[in-house]
Amino acid sequence: MEQRIIHACGHEQGHYLTGFDSQQERKAKWLKTTTCRDCFVAEKRAEEAAAAAFSSAAISHLDLPPLAGTDRQISWASTIRTKRLAALTNPDSDANCYACLQVTDAKWWIDHRDLTDVDLMAAAAQATDIPGVTGVTA
Ligand SMILES: [Zn+2]
Repeated sequence: MEQRIIHACGHEQGHYLTGFDSQQERKAKWLKTTTCRDCFVAEKRAEEAAAAAFSSAAISHLDLPPLAGTDRQISWASTIRTKRLAALTNPDSDANCYACLQVTDAKWWIDHRDLTDVDLMAAAAQATDIPGVTGVTA
């Protein structure tokens, strides 16, 4: 049955709680300490926007070549590229992102977005055919 929960943010939201009474009680109690779905989404968006701004600032010194692809691909790929390069060019990291800087294929960034930093650099070195740039043995 649906229960109306007043969340920590002050908004009321309906939840279908299942299980024994004690389990439902525990779930309801926990839900009251969380934000409602709308606030959760808004918070996530704000966090993402802040992270994107931070990433852009982190790579502002880089001379990035324009990406090639459809408008949709370019828009998505540039978000991915900004985020990944910000991590790769972190002064604490000794990663060599030179190859990644050369990849201008929007689709490549989208296809490789889930790779780890090391794998991403290796894939970029392969894609741009720059020998030995990552120091990673394939
Ligand atoms: Zn709320």
